[in-house]
Amino acid sequence: MLSILTDFLFPPRCPNCRAYVERRGDFCDTCARRLAGLRAIARPADAAAYIAGIWALGHYREGVRDLLRALKYQKKKGVLVQLHAMLAAGEEALARLPDALTAAPVPLAPERERERGFNQTVLIFAPWLRAHGIPLETILVRTRETAPLYNAAREERRKELRGAFAVAEDAQIAGKNILLVDDIMTTGTTLMECARVLKRAGAQNVYALVLASEHI
Ligand SMILES: [Zn+2]
Repeated sequence: MLSILTDFLFPPRCPNCRAYVERRGDFCDTCARRLAGLRAIARPADAAAYIAGIWALGHYREGVRDLLRALKYQKKKGVLVQLHAMLAAGEEALARLPDALTAAPVPLAPERERERGFNQTVLIFAPWLRAHGIPLETILVRTRETAPLYNAAREERRKELRGAFAVAEDAQIAGKNILLVDDIMTTGTTLMECARVLKRAGAQNVYALVLASEHI
C-alpha cells in the first residue's frame, strides 16, 4: 500500500537520465545498455606485471557518479538498489571471469571506515559475490591514510600509495586467484599497488573488478 502511494507521488525514474521507468531502482533501457555490462579495461602498462585482467561494470559519470557520491558522502544506502542493478546487468558476462576466485575489497583507512560506518565496496559487491559463491575476505588492510589523489599525476600517486596496503595477518593467499573489488577506478594505481602486495605475498593471479571506471 505504502509503495503504491510512494510510486504515485514519486514515480520511479531512471537514476541516470530521470526518464520514467516501471520499477524503482531500474535504469531505463537506453541507460542500461549504455552504462552497464561487464567490460574489460586495458591495463596500464606498469600494471600488467601484477594484474591479469581488469573489468568494469559501468562508466564513472553522470548517474553512476551521483549514486556513488550519495552512498559515500551522504551515506544514502537506498542507492544500493541501483548499484546492485548494475551488477545484475553485467550478469551474462560473469562467465568471462576466471574460476575459483576469492574476492578482496580494497580497504579504506580504518578512521575513514569508522567515520563512514561502512566500506562502500563491501556493500556494493557482497550480495552479488555471495550469490555466485565467491567468498569475500578481508585479505588486505590499509596501513595508513593517503593524501587525496584526485589531481595527482600517476607517478605522484604511485609514490603516495607505496606501502599503504598490507596483507592481513591471518590471510591465506598463497596460490590463490584473487579478485580485487573496488567502487571506482581512476588511474588504476590503487589496484596496482594492492595487486603488487598480493603477488608478493604469494597470490597466483590477481584480477580486478570495479563498479565504475573513468576509462571505458
Ligand atoms: Zn536513463
